[in-house]
Amino acid sequence: MGKLDGRVVVITGAARGQGEQEARLFVKEGARVVVADVLDDQGEALAKEIGNATYVHLDVSREEDWRAAVEVAKNAYGKIDGLVNNAGILRFNELTATPLDEFQQIVQVNQVGVFLGIKTVAPEIEAAGGGSIVNTASYAGVTGMAYVGAYGATKHAIVGLTRTAALELAPKKIRVNAVCPGAIDTAMSNPAQLDPNANTEEAAEALAGLYSKLVPIGRVGQPEEVARLALFLTCEEDSSYITGQPFVIDGGWLAGVSIL
Ligand code: NAD
Repeated sequence: MGKLDGRVVVITGAARGQGEQEARLFVKEGARVVVADVLDDQGEALAKEIGNATYVHLDVSREEDWRAAVEVAKNAYGKIDGLVNNAGILRFNELTATPLDEFQQIVQVNQVGVFLGIKTVAPEIEAAGGGSIVNTASYAGVTGMAYVGAYGATKHAIVGLTRTAALELAPKKIRVNAVCPGAIDTAMSNPAQLDPNANTEEAAEALAGLYSKLVPIGRVGQPEEVARLALFLTCEEDSSYITGQPFVIDGGWLAGVSIL
């Protein structure tokens, strides 16, 4: 028996990275998954490969895309009772050098995208009798991080949205939690993965060297590890009494400063 037998879960930003691993794991655990992204070719290919999945083009910052995605999900599977708001973008910049457009774009995708996801999908989950929402915040959503001011602001906002949504949606039998990953080995933290001319081994070694010093557990995290936390928070049996909480998954990075 799978942990998500009978469940229908929409996962945003699911064409690659953490969202891809969540889609793979959720299908393995018995769910039917709506793979939502703006990377159509990759998303379509993934849905076809894993089976029990449907791809939909969903730009999370567009309300009309959300409405259309809900229709696709209901036509394919009859209901929605889970949502993983995973899509996100990152830009590095000093705050005083950040163009307004860049700041607003990050807010639009990371923060407005999560708001629209909750607003559009929660009524569907309620109609299905209840379920869960997992929002993807970040280590940068629970502490300051230089040169990612816009990103960090949106991730703090996601933690706040998670708490408010949990309070408002608990009577509707919807639990809402957030995952807060530290450094995870995806294209976001390691853009060399996307560059056909990059020396990916060299980039991976540089990252490994960096995180062996920064992170107490001594390595970068893997997207599969975040997927297992999202699974725990989506599975009703495992996390039935948990709502409104941010869960840090960072190899101990946030635990404190080590002097050795
Ligand atoms: P990634 O860049 O590999 O994946 C992000 C996915 O989101 C991509 O598939 C991308 O196409 C999609 N996306 C971007 N804009 C979108 C939009 N407007 N609508 C729909 N989809 C969109 O990176 P990842 O590491 O897998 O990131 C997943 C989530 O985890 C993000 O919210 C990110 O902020 C968060 N996160 C990542 C790290 C890390 O170190 N990688 C750390 C903390 C939090």
